[in-house]
Amino acid sequence: MTHVFHRHLRQTPPVAASSQGMFIRDAEGREYLDASGGAAVSSLGHAHPEVLAAMHAQLDKLAYAHTSFFTSEVAEQLADELITSAPEGMSHVYLVSGGSEAVESALKMARQYFVEIGQPQRTHFIARRQSYHGNTLGALAVGGNAWRREPFAPILVPATHVSPCYPYREQREGESAEHYGLRLAAELEAAIVAQGADRVIAFVAETVGGATAGVLTPVPGYFKAVRAVCDKYGVLLILDEVMCGMGRTGSLHACEQEGVVPDLMTIAKGLGGGYQPIGAVLAQRKIVEAMSKGSGFFQHGHTYLGHPMACAAALAVQQVIRRDGLVARVREDGVAFGAMLAEALGKHAHVGDIRGRGFFWGIELVADRANKTPFDPSLKVNALIKKDAMSRGLLCYPFGGTVDGRQGDHVLLAPPFIATRQDLQEIAARLAASIDAVTSAAAR
Ligand code: PMP
Repeated sequence: MTHVFHRHLRQTPPVAASSQGMFIRDAEGREYLDASGGAAVSSLGHAHPEVLAAMHAQLDKLAYAHTSFFTSEVAEQLADELITSAPEGMSHVYLVSGGSEAVESALKMARQYFVEIGQPQRTHFIARRQSYHGNTLGALAVGGNAWRREPFAPILVPATHVSPCYPYREQREGESAEHYGLRLAAELEAAIVAQGADRVIAFVAETVGGATAGVLTPVPGYFKAVRAVCDKYGVLLILDEVMCGMGRTGSLHACEQEGVVPDLMTIAKGLGGGYQPIGAVLAQRKIVEAMSKGSGFFQHGHTYLGHPMACAAALAVQQVIRRDGLVARVREDGVAFGAMLAEALGKHAHVGDIRGRGFFWGIELVADRANKTPFDPSLKVNALIKKDAMSRGLLCYPFGGTVDGRQGDHVLLAPPFIATRQDLQEIAARLAASIDAVTSAAAR
């Protein structure tokens, strides 16, 4: 009998006992190839000796000091590292304990910015359907995952949701990618105007969508058009790169590939690579300056801000990634990985779409490829794939996103950046075997 409040209350998962490189072992000695880095977390793989050494050294020096009394050398170093590599104009880093905290902090920073500059009437967020920004109430309010929101909808702050950039399902027949991107930006503009242009705080979006519809890569020009709409109405752009950031898509920040710079950007998972819980908000100078010249403080805070152990882990992870040129490797090998997935799954009767960048790929499963009909949710195809893949020693990240207002089935792949081409081949092969076994049984 377990006393841990597990998410699934009627089943207890296997006990993870140890990990190394690309693998996690359970207490019964079974070995799992980590094709999803947990939930796109383990950027550097498991038990990297240099990260462990940096964490031990930090523990010997300073494990914890509250940020209302002190800063720490390691938090300052991490912030320097992050700002040196940040998009133009980013001047400060707010260090928190994870993705949802980063999103909450960014939402409050954006709101306080407008209070400071004399626009307190701005109270509304606009975000997207089929998005995920975290499970705390503010993050859930901007999130557009209908299933996750449903029980809590009556207690969420109001937010408007516009269409995601989801070409497989929503780009019209014969419509160019360029036109599709502009149409979405026009929809955002209409939503801002409908709300009252001077009442909107920010537009919040994942640069590359993650945990709701299985990796949604934006069409070229979409984010540039979105940035222009935000600028036209003085609305801030908050890009959530908690999942897609820190090298995952083949550039340090996913927004670099879109040619846009957000006002606030959230990062988390790959930042600390799972060695410690950590997230951050990167903020544009104008936002920090408005607070600094105005009230002089950010009216927010958590006990574990800038935790030295978390900062030491993240700093070591980022230094190794930079030194070893792993982001360039993700970019190059990511192309090969996409080709491997296309080869293994591209013609499969129940694979509707394969999309992604770098080491961030989503596979959308369908009952009928010709008309893109999802499987009946009661078949729980995504849950069965997770189980079947584990029985083959593979950790992938399947989930039920919302397709046409109901659950669909997606598999997310996000291997550590140290994956070799042989690892990537193995991932594609084992996943193809699982998808084949589960979907052929479901289609019967
Ligand atoms: N934003 C995005 C884009 C995410 O993918 C996630 C986690 N899947 C979060 C926020 C929330 O992060 P956390 O689970 O660390 O709170």
